[in-house]
Amino acid sequence: RRQRDLAEAALPAVTRDGVTVQLAANIGVPGEVENARALGAEGVGLFRSEFLFMGRDTFPSEEEQFLAYRQAAEGCGGHICVIRTLDIGGDKPLPHLAIAKEHNPFLGWRAIRISLERTELFRTQVKAILRAGCHGKVAIMLPMVISAGEIRQARALVAEAATELTAEGRPFAAHVPVGIMIETPAAAATAHLLAPACDFFSIGTNDLVQYTLAVDRGNAKVASLYSHFHPAVLRLIDATIQAARRQGIWVGMCGEMAGDPLATPLLVGMGIDELSMSAPSIPRVKAVIRRLSTAEARSLRDAALALDDAAAIRAYLEEMRTPPS
Ligand code: PEP
Ligand code: MG
Repeated sequence: RRQRDLAEAALPAVTRDGVTVQLAANIGVPGEVENARALGAEGVGLFRSEFLFMGRDTFPSEEEQFLAYRQAAEGCGGHICVIRTLDIGGDKPLPHLAIAKEHNPFLGWRAIRISLERTELFRTQVKAILRAGCHGKVAIMLPMVISAGEIRQARALVAEAATELTAEGRPFAAHVPVGIMIETPAAAATAHLLAPACDFFSIGTNDLVQYTLAVDRGNAKVASLYSHFHPAVLRLIDATIQAARRQGIWVGMCGEMAGDPLATPLLVGMGIDELSMSAPSIPRVKAVIRRLSTAEARSLRDAALALDDAAAIRAYLEEMRTPPS
């Protein structure tokens, strides 16, 4: 299996009619990049920066963060490394950040909401990312966005971080792309309004499914209701991709759905540009892409969107699955 995966890794992720889909890796620590590249990842589509902040009782310094982001960026070998800013709160608590007890932590003070209030934390992180941009291609990704105002505020803080670095005489990359995760129904439903403020989108299906279906992603009791093939979820994904394409920005996906080979034809049919997943999933997703034609994928998308429930859509995709040649 491993042997075959490594052989596949050298092949491009291109459809039979020549459309390339960028396949990238989700990582949690910079050291994971190497194995991801060996499995065929072209860069990192989601670097969950939380590891730097967890299991300790102080915040990491700018220098410490810089070293981690630089290592990840260098490891990408000219491909992009998308670094997500702190996504704490909800299912990811941080003991030394005093978050008052909340009845609904998933709907509470988390992610971008913390960054826009504790601006010194955000600016420190952004300065480290901008500096790492001198050592590879990096991008900044904002989690849990629900409005254009948040993106504008975050961008103003990115500009402030750049001003500070200039004043300090430190080298940094001047034009680092800023994009957002589409992981709330609000962001997906207004993707066309958010797109002009963004350099890219990445769809986070783990949270998007949870918030769209009102189904806790970690609750076993309702796990059978949790499906990325629910027609409401598919409509939000499709609308997001179309909004990005109209705006001319790239759109990827970094939730679990990106690594589900059953979903690949559907996502290619919708026009996804990039799929970021845990590295071991890359060879299987790539094999599916290499057997696809985009015309077939588009009609598959049309047919799937006409079906009325997740189970029917899953069954249809299984029936249409192209066997390996
Ligand atoms: C997501 O929500 O889909 C995602 C990729 O982020 P996380 O799983 O870290 O919440
Ligand atoms: Mg998320």
